[in-house]
Amino acid sequence: MSRAARTEVIAAVQDYVRYLQHLGVTELPVTWASPTRAAASAVQTRPAASAAPSRVAPMEAAPAVRLAQLAATVRDCHNCRLHTGRTQVVFGVGDPTATLVFVGEAPGHDEDVQGEPFVGQAGQLLTRIIAAIGLTREQVYMLNVIKCRPPNNRNPQPDEIAACRPIWQAQLACLQPRVICALGTFAAQTLLHTEEKISRLRGRFHRLGDIQVMPTYHPAFLLRHPQYKRAVWEDMQLVQSALGLR
Ligand code: URA
Repeated sequence: MSRAARTEVIAAVQDYVRYLQHLGVTELPVTWASPTRAAASAVQTRPAASAAPSRVAPMEAAPAVRLAQLAATVRDCHNCRLHTGRTQVVFGVGDPTATLVFVGEAPGHDEDVQGEPFVGQAGQLLTRIIAAIGLTREQVYMLNVIKCRPPNNRNPQPDEIAACRPIWQAQLACLQPRVICALGTFAAQTLLHTEEKISRLRGRFHRLGDIQVMPTYHPAFLLRHPQYKRAVWEDMQLVQSALGLR
């Protein structure tokens, strides 16, 4: 691992320890297994398109370390043409031990500049949706199936989708959430390997390995079509129930 990558891993671990302190955690286990190379090797070996993320042994705090390793591995990714126009890889953000993960499409302008998913207008609406189910952004994890901003926010192309697939698969293998909320057509179709419309996918759980996946409308779509907010609320109530939050 390069010095820069190591520095990034250390910074991520320090962030995570601060986060735990914020939650009132005062002790950490000292016998955790050393972080595996599973996540990074998932990127290098490119699992088959149909492969669901593999489950890894649960280890306290290890997901943060593994995610940090993975982030360091992909920060200079040149696997598709999108690297030429990006400001940075937008990896993901949130609690590495979250039971709920939101998966979006691709970074827009604000996300590209700030390096964090869902920080623009659609992200602000997503933050309100998360609050409506009694959680905060810090308690969930957010990622996109495409990590670099497509020029002029155009739709990602098949080879770009294929290039990014191992990254989100490795992220999910680290995170092992109970529930994923797939935001919009593109995220839902990519995660579930289907061409079914979002209007037919939403409203019920699908499976990705052991993970329950709830597709729903994208917050950017809701900004343009607020009449679909009720449907999203229904979907989010199903998510709440699945997580025992209501
Ligand atoms: N839309 C997405 O799908 N992802 C983001 O990060 C921002 C907007």
